[in-house]
Amino acid sequence: MALIVAKFGGTSVADVERIEVVANKIVREAKLGHKVVVVVSAMSGVTNRLVDYCKQINPFYDMREYDVVVSSGEQVTAGLLAIALQKRGITASSWLGWQISVHTNDVHGKARITGIDTNEVHKRLDDGEIVVVPGFQGMTQSGRITTLGRGGSDTSAVALAAALGADRCDIYTDVDGVYTTDPRIVPNARKLKKISFEEMMELASLGAKVLQTRSVEIAMKKEVSLQVLSSFEEYIGSDLPGTLVTKEDNIVEDELVSGIAYKRDEAKITLLSVPDIPGVAATIFQPLAQAAINVDMIVQNISPDGKTTDITFTIAKADVPKAVKTLSDVSDLEGVDIDINENVAKISVVGIGMISHHGVASTMFKTLAEKNINIQVISTSEIKISVLIEEDYTELAVRSLHTAYGLEEE
Ligand code: ADP
Ligand code: ASP
Ligand code: MG
Repeated sequence: MALIVAKFGGTSVADVERIEVVANKIVREAKLGHKVVVVVSAMSGVTNRLVDYCKQINPFYDMREYDVVVSSGEQVTAGLLAIALQKRGITASSWLGWQISVHTNDVHGKARITGIDTNEVHKRLDDGEIVVVPGFQGMTQSGRITTLGRGGSDTSAVALAAALGADRCDIYTDVDGVYTTDPRIVPNARKLKKISFEEMMELASLGAKVLQTRSVEIAMKKEVSLQVLSSFEEYIGSDLPGTLVTKEDNIVEDELVSGIAYKRDEAKITLLSVPDIPGVAATIFQPLAQAAINVDMIVQNISPDGKTTDITFTIAKADVPKAVKTLSDVSDLEGVDIDINENVAKISVVGIGMISHHGVASTMFKTLAEKNINIQVISTSEIKISVLIEEDYTELAVRSLHTAYGLEEE
């Protein structure tokens, strides 16, 4: 008998029929004798609609109220699933983030879980109940509702699995595992049987939205056994049909490149002709950090006379209005022009094999050059190379690179 946390994403609970399918899967797990905690997302499209309502009223909405609004989608699904389970003769109840309680810090809109009280959940599981928890939500120390950033239900599930000491965390979604790249862009992408936490974390943070990055980070730290699988197939998680995200030494394959990711939700900001004096980078990036804006790629181009510099960086598109406002308020940047380009995409090649092999970068640059795709910014780490290109070329770049590294299904 195992304790399983099963998470179902938006498309898996998109309507009442899909919720009934989910209930059937949970019943099958329970009949095998397993204790199950279910984490659900909002029905697909709901969170986007809720975000949009906030924006319509005020683009600079109060993040605390944004969290109250957008966390509501998950509540509906949790209640509906509990009703569907009860209809099947199962004792089930749903418990909101603040009720069980999922504690977070107070960074509204992208809060981090700081702890979860599990006594009540354990008690209910021991009594033979199925516990349903809405993902994506938590509560600050002062009792306000928070959300964990887009895609945050994955993190709710993994954090719960870690706190409960679960045997496995199953992430049910609309694809049957983790692939060498997004199978919706490259139909002959290859499904991976296993992937290391490190590679999955890079892929996720570089745009493979199949798992939220923070969920992989927690799984790696707490050694949660994680499986990605489809809710649209007949099987259930205990059949182990999906991709296992696991420790590096459990992986036999030694691929040079394990996957390709893309991200279209970043914008490129350039500050033109900033005086090139010591401390100028801090003048720009400190206020952005204080405004909780994450900066990704950074490049600096010094003018030929060495007096001024252009500083380019990328941030989430959603943060552009806040970033522009923040930088406009910095007195040292008065008169500096800010250029914003939202028509960009970041393409990344990831692989642990890069640590010991050369030539990955040159293959990437050559492949993109052959397709006439211009590279605007480059950044690298030990196991990844990222380039920023014009957004319209995203699919062409991903497909060409996927072929160039020989990643397709045989
Ligand atoms: P959910 O609503 O279940 O949380 P998401 O839409 O967040 O699902 O994530 C699943 C999607 O992730 C898939 O539909 C797929 O298009 C995308 N995806 C991107 N990269 C990958 C990858 N490498 N492997 C599998 N899916 C990927
Ligand atoms: N509903 C939230 C979102 O769409 C959280 C999630 O589905 O993981 O971002
Ligand atoms: Mg998701």
